[in-house]
Amino acid sequence: MSAAAFARDLSAWFRKNGRDLPWRRTTDPYAILVSEVMLQQTQVATVLERGHYTRWMERFPDFATLAAAEENAVLQAWEGLGYYRRARNLLALARTVAHRHGGVFPRDLESIRALPGIGPYTAGAVASFAHDTPAPLVDGNVARVLSRLDDDATPADSTAGQKRLWQRAAELVLAASSPRVFNAALMELGQTLCRPGAPLCLSCPVKKHCRATDPAALPVKRARPAPTRVVERVFLLQENGSVLLEQERGPRRTGLWKLPALPDAAHAAAPPVLLKTAYTITRYKVTLWVHEPPPGELVRAENHRLIPRAELGATPMPSPYRRALDTLLARREFRLH
Ligand code: SF4
Repeated sequence: MSAAAFARDLSAWFRKNGRDLPWRRTTDPYAILVSEVMLQQTQVATVLERGHYTRWMERFPDFATLAAAEENAVLQAWEGLGYYRRARNLLALARTVAHRHGGVFPRDLESIRALPGIGPYTAGAVASFAHDTPAPLVDGNVARVLSRLDDDATPADSTAGQKRLWQRAAELVLAASSPRVFNAALMELGQTLCRPGAPLCLSCPVKKHCRATDPAALPVKRARPAPTRVVERVFLLQENGSVLLEQERGPRRTGLWKLPALPDAAHAAAPPVLLKTAYTITRYKVTLWVHEPPPGELVRAENHRLIPRAELGATPMPSPYRRALDTLLARREFRLH
């Protein structure tokens, strides 16, 4: 396959057929970075249709505004997207750009990679989309396209597979007349035609370059461990129009608020259940039980706080807890507290 001919055909297709997405209309590194970070673990439809990207850009339009924001406000604005570490990383990155780079996003790949929370994919995306630098990028969509193009059965999530994919992506982007267009086109091909399962090869603009014999079987991935089942038990306590919440301190959701954990001593007595729900996060399948408050006097922890109901909307909270709390507070028996 000629890299230059492939890049030319793919780019020509994209120029004609690429979707019009807000972050493709700009070369502002901040706007591109925000979209890339949001899209890392969240689908385009969620980011766009639920207005997350637009609202964020209205509230924090540039590095300087974000750098000056309180962490609580940033976490609250991120609500609904999950994986809050991304919001914290964006804040740390904005502060680094503001304080160490005079508010200007660096242009060279090495400086971009040195920024906090920036991995090789995000560095390649911002460098190519903002500055048209021939920087490679490989995400799940690109890995699928490249594995199929080369009919390569090396597991895409293995060290050897990743090395080959990044090398291939680098070779191809170097052959492109516009890295910005080429990288976007490669991703678009993976999202639309060269999709998971059976690809739409008959409509593919680079079919003549593709060596896949059984594309649906690619990319090969290593076997995943079975999800771990976890049980969370929390309780709902209301007092004078306020709800008792607990601030998380763990590595995943530090700073966020949730219903307080049922004390270990109360597990055996198991106060009546108000709600049972379930959610999945990374490799965990969580069953969330919301109980009535434990009997007897409650020892308040220092990370417990009574939050007035009117302030709950502005309190950053993981989505599963927000949904559980909203469901419970909408019930008649809880409306009058
Ligand atoms: S021909 Fe099919 S498998 Fe090959 S790149 Fe195009 S869509 Fe993917």
